[in-house]
Amino acid sequence: MPEKVALIGSGNWGSAIATKIGVNASACADFDDKVYMWWVRPHENVIYLPGIELPHNIVACPDVATCVDGATMMVFVIPHNFLAPIVPKMEGKFAKGAIGCSLIKGIEFEKEGDMKPILISDLLQAEMKKSDGAPVVDMSVLMGANVANEVAKGDFAEATIGCTKPENGLKWCKLFNTKDFAVQAVTDVAGAELCGAMKNVVALGAGFCDGLGYGGNTKAAIIRIGLKEMQKFCKVFYGDRQIKDETFLESCGVADLVTTCFGGRNRKCADIFAKNIAAGTPKAWDVIEAEELNGQKLQGTGTAQDVMKAIKAKGVVDAFPLFSQIHKIAFEGAKPETIIDMKLADYPRL
Ligand code: NAD
Ligand code: 13P
Repeated sequence: MPEKVALIGSGNWGSAIATKIGVNASACADFDDKVYMWWVRPHENVIYLPGIELPHNIVACPDVATCVDGATMMVFVIPHNFLAPIVPKMEGKFAKGAIGCSLIKGIEFEKEGDMKPILISDLLQAEMKKSDGAPVVDMSVLMGANVANEVAKGDFAEATIGCTKPENGLKWCKLFNTKDFAVQAVTDVAGAELCGAMKNVVALGAGFCDGLGYGGNTKAAIIRIGLKEMQKFCKVFYGDRQIKDETFLESCGVADLVTTCFGGRNRKCADIFAKNIAAGTPKAWDVIEAEELNGQKLQGTGTAQDVMKAIKAKGVVDAFPLFSQIHKIAFEGAKPETIIDMKLADYPRL
């Protein structure tokens, strides 16, 4: 039986990835030709990805339960803050033994106590088990240096599947991989997913540098320090998940960090945030998001706040000077110039 694919989300990235999935579902006998794509508002792909036409076999679907009815492969690609009400509506609909792949770059945190971070892929797995009462949906992730508009245009890009079961990782590669979208799998869900979430925080720092008119050297320093703090965050909070150092060298790691710090929405909004402060006309993040992103959602600001709560609760703030300084600038009124004032924990290096 061919795999039945459901795409949950049709924003900027959901629409862009539909251009790859649609082509493969149409061309490969492993997949049912029709791919159902869930949307909140009609014609979301036109709003969020203007100028790009979706393949003919992508079927827009306003009801999430209908979208996943009988699905054997489910792709999740909506901003994570919208997830909570959606999963219960999928109850009993997807096929037994269905597998899932999260393209969501974000993280959740326990709301109380020690604010332990929770992977979105783990959250989805737990929620689907709860609603279906049935076997666990094996979850993989797809992360990478993937600014959506560029991927949709067909510019070459790479991506990383993080999986636990290699056979499922290969299924996902087959669904996403095209000649202009090179996908490889690693058996490290947590490492790939945490890279995807954390780089959005670092991109705010890169955007502050741009807004201040600093050059490439300063941004490179922010990227380097950011990468180290991403790694440290993984060790401190997910030491038990055997996150691999090599994962940071895949597309989901350093490559995504670089592209987001140069071409992403988090960088762009942080640049504007810093410029507005310099001009004496500061603007709140939600105002900048609404003015600049045409209904798309900024991820880094929420993640920066959650990361701060988690490292405070664990008593490890001093180990994350960049994340802390980004939080101070974004939410505590520190001047953007203070981005370079952080006290580096790893200095001096001998
Ligand atoms: P987006 O920023 O374009 O936001 C629009 C999406 O939000 C649409 O899918 C829409 O249906 C959904 N939405 C809006 N209001 C909603 C509501 N009230 N309830 C439920 N859903 C609602 O989204 P995106 O860029 O597709 O991002 C989705 C995820 O993919 C994020 O985690 C993002 O970090 C990640 N991602 C984005 C890109 C990119 O370049 N855009 C690249 C890689 C990964
Ligand atoms: P932004 O959300 O900052 O646009 O980053 C997109 C992305 O994840 C690129 O890989």
